[in-house]
Amino acid sequence: MDQQLIIAAGREKSLFRRHPWIFSGAVASVKGRPKSGQTVDVLGQNGQWLARAAFSPKSQIQGRVWTFDADERIDAEFFLHRIGESAARRRRLETESDALRLVHSESDGLPGLILDRYAGVLVFQLLTAGAEFWRAEIIGALRTLFPNDAILERSDVDVRAKEGLNERIEAVHGEIPELVEIRENDVRLLVDVRNGHKTGFYLDQRDSRLAVGRTAAGAEVLNCFSYTGGFGLAALRGGAKNVTQLDASAPALDLAARNRELNGFAPESMTTVCGDAFQVLRAWRKEGRTFDLIVLDPPKFVDSKASLNRAARGYKDVNLCAFHLLRPGGRLFTFSCSGLMEDALFQKIVADAALDAGRTGRIVRRLTQAPDHPVALAFPEGAYLKGLEIEVE
Ligand code: SAH
Repeated sequence: MDQQLIIAAGREKSLFRRHPWIFSGAVASVKGRPKSGQTVDVLGQNGQWLARAAFSPKSQIQGRVWTFDADERIDAEFFLHRIGESAARRRRLETESDALRLVHSESDGLPGLILDRYAGVLVFQLLTAGAEFWRAEIIGALRTLFPNDAILERSDVDVRAKEGLNERIEAVHGEIPELVEIRENDVRLLVDVRNGHKTGFYLDQRDSRLAVGRTAAGAEVLNCFSYTGGFGLAALRGGAKNVTQLDASAPALDLAARNRELNGFAPESMTTVCGDAFQVLRAWRKEGRTFDLIVLDPPKFVDSKASLNRAARGYKDVNLCAFHLLRPGGRLFTFSCSGLMEDALFQKIVADAALDAGRTGRIVRRLTQAPDHPVALAFPEGAYLKGLEIEVE
C-alpha cells in the first residue's frame, strides 16, 4: 500500500502495547496523501510494519488502528467478520435483555463504531473519519448479519466535528417504529430511538438498575437524573413503595409515565418532577423531604481536562444534597459517566460531600458499565462509568 504513517523515533511504544490511538505528535510523516478515513500502513522509523490504521487528518488522534496483523486486509469482509464476532460475544446476555450494545468501538476492535440493537432495531453511530469511510461496508455487514432488522443511523454526536464530519440521522433500512419496546430483566421499556439520548437508551446502566431493584423493597425512592425512568422502574419491580423520577427533560418524563403504565404499576406508585436537580434538591432540603433510597446518575459534566474542576464541584454539590435528603439507614447509588473523572477522585468527592453533610457512610458495592460495554485491556480509556452503592448511618 502506498499510503503510510511513519511514527516518530521512540513513539512506537504504545503500538507495541496494542493501544489503538496514534496521536499527531507521534507521527513523523505522512506518505502518499491519504484521504480522510482511508486506510494507511503504520511504519516505524526503520521501516518496520506496526499496524494498519484509519487516517484522521483533522483530529489530534491522527490514526486509529484497525489491525495489528499484517495479513489482515481492511475491506467489507473485515467489517462483516469483526461485527459478527462482536455480536456473538454478547449472545449469553440475551437472557437478560433484548436490547444490547453489540459493538463498543475500540474495545471491540472497531474504533469509531457504536452499534446498539433494540429488539430488532439496529442503531449505529459513526464517530470517526475511519468509520465514516467504511459506512457502506458497515451497513452491508449489518444487512447480512441481521437480515430482518430495521437500521437507523444516529451519527448526531459532537465528536464528529473533531473529525471534520457533519452530523447525520438517517433511516437506512426498514420501518423504524416511533417507539421500540424492549425488555430488560423483568422491566419493559419504551425507547425513542430517533430522538432519545445517545442511541435511545442508557444500556450501560443495566446491571446497576438490577442492583437498585434488589435493594429497593419497601423503599421510598428518588431517581435523580431519571431520563425515561429506568432505575425507578427497576426499583418498583423490586418492591419499592414509591418512586419520584426527577429530570430536566419533559419528553423523557412523559416516556417514564408511559413506562410505568406498560409495567402495570399503580399511578400512585410514581411521581415525575421536571426541573433542575440542583435547585429541586435544595428546595426539598429546606422543606425537610427525605427518602430511603436515592439514585444519582447525572450527565457527563466533564468533556475536557479543563472542565474537570467545574465538574468536581457539580458532583460534590449534587451528592451533598443527596446525603442531606437520605433517611438514617438510607442507601445512595451515585454515578459518574465521565471517563476523565478517575475512580479515586470520584470516591473522594463523594466522601467530601458526606463529610460536609455530617453523614457517615460506607461503600458496600462498586458498580460499572454492563458487560456489553467491555474495556479492552490494551485500551483503558474504554472504562468510563463508575458508581458506588453507599449505606448511610
Ligand atoms: N439514569 C438514566 C440516565 C440518566 S442520563 C437511565 O438509567 O436511563 C442523565 C439525565 O440527566 C438526562 O436524562 C438529562 O435530561 C438529565 N439532566 C441533565 N441536566 C440536568 C439537571 N440539571 N437537572 C435534572 N436533570 C438533568
